[in-house]
Amino acid sequence: MGEFDLIARYFHRPTPRAVLGVGDDCALLAPRPGTQLAISSDMLVEGRHFFPDADPASLGHKALAVNLSDLAACGATPLAFTLALSLPQADEAWLAPFARSLLALADEHGCELVGGDTTQGPLNICITVFGEVPVVNGRSTALLRSGAQAGNDLYVSGTLGDARLALEVLRGQLDMPAALFAAAQARMDRPSPRVALGRALRGIATAAIDLSDGLLGDLGHILKASRVGATVHTDIATTLIALQAEDAWASAFIDQKMQLQCVLAGGDDYELAFTAPAALRDAVAAAALSAATPVTRIGHIDATRGLRLVDGAGDSLPNTYTSFDHFA
Ligand code: ADP
Ligand code: MG
Repeated sequence: MGEFDLIARYFHRPTPRAVLGVGDDCALLAPRPGTQLAISSDMLVEGRHFFPDADPASLGHKALAVNLSDLAACGATPLAFTLALSLPQADEAWLAPFARSLLALADEHGCELVGGDTTQGPLNICITVFGEVPVVNGRSTALLRSGAQAGNDLYVSGTLGDARLALEVLRGQLDMPAALFAAAQARMDRPSPRVALGRALRGIATAAIDLSDGLLGDLGHILKASRVGATVHTDIATTLIALQAEDAWASAFIDQKMQLQCVLAGGDDYELAFTAPAALRDAVAAAALSAATPVTRIGHIDATRGLRLVDGAGDSLPNTYTSFDHFA
């Protein structure tokens, strides 16, 4: 199978919304009047982001999911994406499940594959997504990192730390019952980008970010961009899915230190952290309901710079957690 057969077989799909999709030198998109394009790229590199024997279906899903998560953080509606793929060989047993799950997630979000590049080389998957945000009264409605204000509530969506829990089991640091491990591994391999929540929070949230490197590290980006500080209540550790399991297995077997490490600095969560005025709590709850995505209020924004951790009793805790940094 040559390069063009490969593209035709796996990646050339109808693109009814785009003006022009795969097959020419450029794809053509026509953003609707009164909207802005939101654009983001993310790369998955073998040995860095995934193990060499990683399941191709999970990779197809995750490669697009992490990009859609960036659109979610901006409150953008997905439109289209491009796929730059470097592959050791044109292996159909790899390509078929990869393309199937990639395109299934794309269809779920109405995001069309409009182009890309295909070369031979070490496995590397780079996706660029394009989304749309309305401009209202001359102002973008995109959610940014820079809008958090002192007094705002601080929220996270879904559950945190599950992917890290799965990673610790794979690393042999932790033992878990099979059913709980399967749930944690599904969170690691098949994150659900919170696109509906991001859209629903337009006009409500003052700042947002998606959590890829761990809550505290990513929250730090909001604090820096917004020139504010925050207080985080660490008893939100109960957001781990394993801690919500009925048999209460987790609280008995995962020690407190591991729980906090996973939740506060786990990485690979692909949930949203966002801030909103305290006066808009009902609007936040309505947005979460409309997006069928639970949200938890975990703290607040302070005028004083810096990140403060407090436990359930209100006592302060040292912040010794480090988030992921490729070059640290
Ligand atoms: P060019 O050399 O002009 O950049 P290519 O030969 O690389 O074009 O690609 C031919 C067409 O196939 C282009 O429209 C390109 O966008 C598309 N394409 C290439 N690789 C992929 C891919 N992995 N997924 C989707 N479209 C692709
Ligand atoms: Mg090319």
